[in-house]
Amino acid sequence: MKAMRKKIKELFANGDVDVVLGYREDPASGEVKASVFKKDEMLEDMVFDERCVQNLVNYLPTLVARYSKVGIVLKGCDGRSLATQLVEHRINKNQIVALGVGCEGVKVGGKDADKCEDCPTSMSPVTDHEIGDKKQKKDPVFSKVEEIEKMSPAERWKFFAEYFERCERCYACRQICPSCYCEICVADQQEPKWIEPSAKLSANTMWHLIRAYHLAGRCADCGECERVCPQEIPMRLMNNALEKAVHELFGVRPGMDPEELPPLVVLSKEDPDTIMGGKHE
Ligand code: SF4
Ligand code: SF4
Ligand code: SF4
Repeated sequence: MKAMRKKIKELFANGDVDVVLGYREDPASGEVKASVFKKDEMLEDMVFDERCVQNLVNYLPTLVARYSKVGIVLKGCDGRSLATQLVEHRINKNQIVALGVGCEGVKVGGKDADKCEDCPTSMSPVTDHEIGDKKQKKDPVFSKVEEIEKMSPAERWKFFAEYFERCERCYACRQICPSCYCEICVADQQEPKWIEPSAKLSANTMWHLIRAYHLAGRCADCGECERVCPQEIPMRLMNNALEKAVHELFGVRPGMDPEELPPLVVLSKEDPDTIMGGKHE
């Protein structure tokens, strides 16, 4: 923490940042929350530990609209999320100072977060300054998805349908997700209306499948959607299944390379195109 505070003080002193987005511990409750630190504020309340679970990237668009230079504290998974925002031109890198911090994992509900088991990188792939250790796994692990893949289609449908049935369509999953930023979400569109607004199995299934496909190759596995879901719907399973498919087909993992566009928005001459018939010329 000392090294991080020192670096942030330096950034403020040099005028490199107007504000820094980080984590603050409320001294009264001990609760840790996303917070904006201003130059003249004490950095003593700033923390970085297993309680820093929120993905701060979701707050960046609001801050860059207000300030010219924003510093942001990043875990590995959140840095992957930032990388997707940069390649999609949602955020301009010139406005960001990325402070990557070697992450040792976070806890959700008092337990080690599931996402940390399969964590590909403890350090953000986008950094201007790195504090702490960088640990990376070479080969991706999708242990939970592999368990689901062993089920028969009927068993798999039963498994997911029980969860879809419970969805309240509160859209907390969408609101917390940095990659879910369409001006009009497909779930809110009236003309044409793609998805029934009422919470019932058929419409909920449409919502979950469409959302998962819209995030294919773009979900950085920050796990925030699953964390905030009041019905504990295992959305990471669907997102990870698509992440696995994209990795197998294109050798790409979202956000791991800040220069790489999501493969589903790239048309390459080498693409094996079985739908349009043959390779692109
Ligand atoms: S997934 Fe990795 S970077 Fe993200 S919180 Fe867990 S250990 Fe940290
Ligand atoms: S947060 Fe959970 S209950 Fe709410 S819409 Fe998303 S999946 Fe459904
Ligand atoms: S879909 Fe969920 S896990 Fe993926 S980036 Fe969005 S909030 Fe994070």
